[in-house]
Amino acid sequence: MSPADQALKDREKRFVMQTYKRADVEFVRGEGALLFDADGNEYLDLLGGISVASMGHCHPDIVNAVREQVGELMHASNLFYTQPMVDLAERLSSSSLGGRVFFCNSGTEANECAIKIARKAAYERGVENPAIISFESDFHGRTYGSLSATPGLAKDPKLGPMLDGFKSVPFDDGAALEAATGSDTAAIFIEAIQGEAGVFVLSDETLKLARELCDRTGALLIIDEIQTGIGRTGSLWAYEQGPARPDVITSAKALGGGVAIGACITTEAAGEVLAPGDHGSTFAAGPVAASAALAVLDLVDQPEMLRRIRSLGTSLTEGLLKMNGVEAVRGRGLMLGVELSEGINSSELNTELLSRGLVANAPRPDSLRLLPPFILTDEQAGRALEIISGALSDQLSGTGS
Ligand code: PLP
Repeated sequence: MSPADQALKDREKRFVMQTYKRADVEFVRGEGALLFDADGNEYLDLLGGISVASMGHCHPDIVNAVREQVGELMHASNLFYTQPMVDLAERLSSSSLGGRVFFCNSGTEANECAIKIARKAAYERGVENPAIISFESDFHGRTYGSLSATPGLAKDPKLGPMLDGFKSVPFDDGAALEAATGSDTAAIFIEAIQGEAGVFVLSDETLKLARELCDRTGALLIIDEIQTGIGRTGSLWAYEQGPARPDVITSAKALGGGVAIGACITTEAAGEVLAPGDHGSTFAAGPVAASAALAVLDLVDQPEMLRRIRSLGTSLTEGLLKMNGVEAVRGRGLMLGVELSEGINSSELNTELLSRGLVANAPRPDSLRLLPPFILTDEQAGRALEIISGALSDQLSGTGS
C-alpha cells in the first residue's frame, strides 16, 4: 500500500469540506473486485464503495450502457418523456411492489420521498400530527427528513432543530413498537437489516408485527432497501426473504452501479398519493443514470447471480467463523458484519487490512463490515480470507503493524 500524495492531502484539507475522515490511500482505477492506488498497488475491494459497486468496478456492460447513452442524450429534464426512465420504472415496479416509482439521485432523497408519501397519506386519512416510527440505530440519510428518522444522529444539538413527528423505539423491540404505534402513525420506517449500525438483522417476528400494526392503523410500512436491495442479500430485495410485504421501498447505492440514482418504489395504492407539484428533482431519472441502472438490473436480477450471492455469502461466513478472533458473523447473502473477539479493535484491524491490500470497513469498534462484489471469484474470496486471518493472528499476538 502507498500513502496518498501529501500535496493531494493538503489540497483536500484546504478545499474540500472536512466532513469525512479518509483512509490514507488514493485510488485511481478499478476493475472487477480490484482497486488500484496511484502507485499501481492492487487491493481486493470487499466494500464496493459502500455497497455501490456490487457488480465490481467498471463492469463492461454498465460502462457500455453509459457510454452509449452519453453519446445520445445526457439530460432532458422531467418536463419531457425519455425511454430509459420509463423502462426502469416498469422494471423496478414489476420486480417489487407493482405500483409507481419516483426517481432521485441518492438514498437520502429516496427516503425524503417516502416520508412525503407517508405524511400526505396520513393527512388524507385525517391525521393531524402524523408520526413516523423508526428503530434506534437505523440509518436513513443526512438530509433533514431522513436525518430526523435516524435517531442516533438526530440528537445532535448543533444541527437542530430536527423535523417534528419522528419517534424511535429500541431495535427489534416488538412490544415498544406496538406501544408507540397508534392512530397518529403515518409510517413504520425501518431497515430490515441495519447496515451502517454494523449489520443487524431484524427478526421475522418484528417485521410481521410491523406489517400487522400498519394494517391495523392505516400506517405505511416503509422498508429502506438502500443498502440491502439490488441483490445484496441474495434476493433482488431483502424484504422478499421475510414475512412482510411493504407499502414502499427505497433504493439507491448499487442501483446505478456507480452512477448516482435513487428510487422510491410503491404499491399501487401508495403510488397514487403524490400529485403534480408535490415533489420533484431536476436531475432525477436522467437517461444516463437510468441506462446504467437498467444494465445493473440485467446483470443482477438473474437466478444464477442471486444463487451465487447466497453461496459466496455462505462460504465467506464459514471461512470467517473458523478464524481465531471472530466471534460471530451477522447478516445475509453478501452483507456481513463480522463480530470480533474482545481486545481486537475493528478500526485498527481495518487499517491493517488496507495495508495488506484488502478494503473493508469498521462501522463499530467490535465489528468489521464486508460488502463484497457479487463477481468476486472463489480464488479472490480465498485470498480475502487469508488476508483477514493473517491480520487477525497478528493482532491477537500483538504484532500488527
Ligand atoms: N439508507 C441506508 C440504509 C443507507 O445505508 C444509506 C447510506 O449509507 C442511506 C439511506 C443514505 O444514502 P445516501 O448516502 O445515498 O444518501
